[in-house]
Amino acid sequence: MPLCLLNVRNDWSLEEVRQLFALPFMDLLFSAQKVHRRFQVPNTVQVSTLLSVKTGACPEDCAYCPQSVRYDTGLEAQELLEVREVAKRALSAKESGATRFCMGAAYRSPKPKDLAKVIAMIREVKALGLETCATLGMLTPEQASELKAAGLDYYNHNLDTSARYYTDIISTRSYQDRLDTLRAVRDAGMNVCCGGIVGMGETPEDRAELLHTLATLPVQPESVPINQLVRVPGTPLATAASLDPFDFVRMIAVARILMPRAHVRLSAGRGEMSDELQALCFMAGANSIFYGEKLLTTGNPDTAHDLRLFERLKIAAEPLDASAPGASATSSEVADRLSPPKTQELAAAPALT
Ligand code: SF4
Repeated sequence: MPLCLLNVRNDWSLEEVRQLFALPFMDLLFSAQKVHRRFQVPNTVQVSTLLSVKTGACPEDCAYCPQSVRYDTGLEAQELLEVREVAKRALSAKESGATRFCMGAAYRSPKPKDLAKVIAMIREVKALGLETCATLGMLTPEQASELKAAGLDYYNHNLDTSARYYTDIISTRSYQDRLDTLRAVRDAGMNVCCGGIVGMGETPEDRAELLHTLATLPVQPESVPINQLVRVPGTPLATAASLDPFDFVRMIAVARILMPRAHVRLSAGRGEMSDELQALCFMAGANSIFYGEKLLTTGNPDTAHDLRLFERLKIAAEPLDASAPGASATSSEVADRLSPPKTQELAAAPALT
């Protein structure tokens, strides 16, 4: 049957989700792999690169995050990068095989002058033929529409955990605020990237509730990042108990079964995972990773190591859509576009900040 004719349910009951988590590990993996092969291209992984375009000094209090101004983690804050610098980094990500470029900024929500600069970044990245993604905090419907008009393909905004555990992790914005942003993104016509973090001291029930919430959204997210907590010294979760790796794999497998069309992304925490554990995650249905040595502010396996792992597992990177504008631009064409502007061009250019 053509993949497009296969139905996706978004009427899962919480009890059904609990039952999936309760399956024997091998049965769960087998079911997830069957779903994966019906809805996804096997042995193929989509590769994204994430760049922190504005780092630290965030007023929010997310207990896992080294970018919060409230925690002393030794992180060096960095102002919003210049548009040209972001475009150069996007080109190098494309040359390393990334097909999606995600720009992350540590904001509660973007201010108008910052949004204007991020919009200029999105236009540059889009012109390279890459898929664009941004994570900038909460958005109003108007801001979401502006980003969509600039060519933003995906907006990332995670729910992080279940509604009931959420208040143990964040107090400066509510679960409903997050759902409102997701709705604004969806209404603006963008793809939704939304997932969560495991290993923050949540219970198995919280994990089931998080996936249940994601899978029963009116339209399921196209991208579902599943992060393993990186315990950063100085954050309130620095001493959280370590997670059983099989519980992490279970989370991936249940996400795959509930949201069969989504790219389930193996995200933060991959730097602490063995190759064997990552292979088990791919078996469970993960088919997207972040590529590059840093994930916003925490470590990630290096690109050469990832390529070796792909080779050992005979996994191919999902190709760039050849029909996307800019997809075939050569390095020298792009480098020309990115070379410093002449003095008279600078004088005529509108201020971005
Ligand atoms: S997760 Fe985002 S919103 Fe929360 S503190 Fe970190 S940068 Fe700020």
